[in-house]
Amino acid sequence: MTRATETIYLDGNATTQVDPRVAAAIAHVWNRPGNASSRVNASGREAQRQLAAAAQQLASLCGGKADEILWTSGATEANNIAIRGSGAVYREHVMSCVTEHASVLESIRALPCCEPEEFAARRILSVPRSGRLNPEHVMQAMTDSVRVVSFMLVNNEIGVIHPIAEITRAIAERYPKVLVHCDACQAASTLAIDVHELGVDMLSLSAHKMYGPQGIGALWIREGVRAHGSIVGGSQQGGRRSGTTPVALAVGFGEAARICQSERESDARRIRALREELLARLQQGTSGVYLNGDAQFRVAGNLNIAFDGVFAEDLVEAVPELELSMGSACHGSEVTTSHVLGALGAPERLHASIRIGLGRHTTSEEIHRAADILLRAVSELRALTRACG
Ligand code: PMP
Repeated sequence: MTRATETIYLDGNATTQVDPRVAAAIAHVWNRPGNASSRVNASGREAQRQLAAAAQQLASLCGGKADEILWTSGATEANNIAIRGSGAVYREHVMSCVTEHASVLESIRALPCCEPEEFAARRILSVPRSGRLNPEHVMQAMTDSVRVVSFMLVNNEIGVIHPIAEITRAIAERYPKVLVHCDACQAASTLAIDVHELGVDMLSLSAHKMYGPQGIGALWIREGVRAHGSIVGGSQQGGRRSGTTPVALAVGFGEAARICQSERESDARRIRALREELLARLQQGTSGVYLNGDAQFRVAGNLNIAFDGVFAEDLVEAVPELELSMGSACHGSEVTTSHVLGALGAPERLHASIRIGLGRHTTSEEIHRAADILLRAVSELRALTRACG
């Protein structure tokens, strides 16, 4: 992928760079006609064949079956369907966690509440300072009214990996009818995902978090589980989500899934080593560097750090050659404090933290340059604060 200026792209948790092999697969089918619903003509049948092949690639990535894949516009829509389209009628029917993505939390808030708000709110679990859910706490908070549980596999801001399989095992023992949804979109590029090992009923994925195109995602729905979207007006995807599925995007998503499946282990090893090197260089280069979120149970490409005495906004502005972020990119142009960092109980880090997302395309040379640029900017900003203070 080419960028307008000579910047170093380090925002892979917001969106990954499209892999050239994915771009080539999309380019190959982009200008072909063919609507998978028009099976009476050859182009329609070819589109249908390509969709089926792409669904097989996704199914193979997550250990499911091709006909269990529901195409969506992204993980936002997949999460909406999992929460609002799978049997939760009231807010108190859902259990989740404060550090979930807004598309999960807002989907829950969109449900009506039939008991006092403070009781319903108890089902949105808090997290300890590590950001990692404790299965025992989940079980202590479970009640008979819960129908759908939704926890992400990897957090998009702090990269923390939740113990989903342990949680689902405990839930299945005592509440076998409860459906478990998992937003795994931040995990698919570097972690092995097996829906059966995870013990989930629904799993959200997004192409642009795994070197695929923006605008397409999927919800894997276990056979026999009823979940459907709110878009009506066509019989596509068995009537569960109307609208023409974009074949070229699906082909790109499938290719992205194929590549992740075969390369994620080597990617993860290399990316984790680069991340460790970056953190070590920063910590050796200056004092007061804090890591947000668990250090051990953390996805390879994520570093979320605070520099003592430095405002993240000033830092990001001081290093235009580095494409970083503060908090979640989904907050758009609004400068809001991160609900995830807020949940970790470290208020002093709320305005001091930056997120660095490394990926398949990050090089060792880029990491060395990024460390030097950050250390210089931190030192200058601290000197400025001392001079003014
Ligand atoms: N869930 C998580 C954990 C995410 O990181 C994101 C993207 N920021 C989403 C959901 C939404 O994904 P999409 O952009 O595909 O709608």
